[in-house]
Amino acid sequence: MTNSPINTPSSPSFASTHLIYEGKAKKIFEIPGEPHHVLMEFKDSLTAFNAQKKGSFESKGVINRDIAALIFKELAAQGVPSHFIENIGERGMKAQKVEIIPLEVVVRNILAGSTAKKMGREEGEKLARPLVEFYYKKDELNDPFVSDDQIIIFQIAEAQTLVDLKRLALEINTVLIQLFQSIGIELVDFKVEFGRTQAGELLLADEITPDCCRLWDLKTGEKMDKDRFRRDLGGVDQYYQEVLKRLLKRGGLA
Ligand code: UDP
Repeated sequence: MTNSPINTPSSPSFASTHLIYEGKAKKIFEIPGEPHHVLMEFKDSLTAFNAQKKGSFESKGVINRDIAALIFKELAAQGVPSHFIENIGERGMKAQKVEIIPLEVVVRNILAGSTAKKMGREEGEKLARPLVEFYYKKDELNDPFVSDDQIIIFQIAEAQTLVDLKRLALEINTVLIQLFQSIGIELVDFKVEFGRTQAGELLLADEITPDCCRLWDLKTGEKMDKDRFRRDLGGVDQYYQEVLKRLLKRGGLA
């Protein structure tokens, strides 16, 4: 996008004074003259276990920006709105400015990770139906699991918002299962975040990338996501690249 009206995040003239927030995997910049938009810059860093484990690989931000954009476009095509507007430069994404609801919404199709551990069961068990879970986004508390009642009584979100979040999360799951299946990948689970625009619209926000999904190769069962980093399986960069390659090859995506 060479004719962009603004500097790209990696451009040295993009002033650091525009930085609103820096997270583990992204920086968020304000865009002068566009109060309802933000620019997200996808970083090369990788973290796990609440940032106790840190790493990075070259071009990770570039790959994840591209994966996230392709997924947001597919979701939009299937009627699921998100904050995505357009890609900017190599690792930038222009998005609607939203106030993030402090909940991580996890959807599971196959048992893995923290819930497998908590229930004392093996990873890989297919669940009878998609399981939606909420975690309270608070680093200092280690993002604890919260029940529906806890969310409402402690005023993390209103009852109607909770209903809307569950519905949207399940809609996203339906689209993503299909999308990944078409490229030979099983969608085990994923985490999404939502926010509200100033006008009050509830939108899918943040990112959907191998950082926040569990993706297993349908043929070989190999992990193609951040578990490669969490569990020191190696080849993190090749597998992220492979996910992007398959999405691009699939076509049909704008
Ligand atoms: N997840 C995430 N960020 C978090 C926690 C989890 O993106 O802070 C994703 C994770 O990649 C997986 C899903 O949410 O796809 C479920 O994660 P789980 O609760 O099993 O936690 P984990 O085992 O990763 O600690």
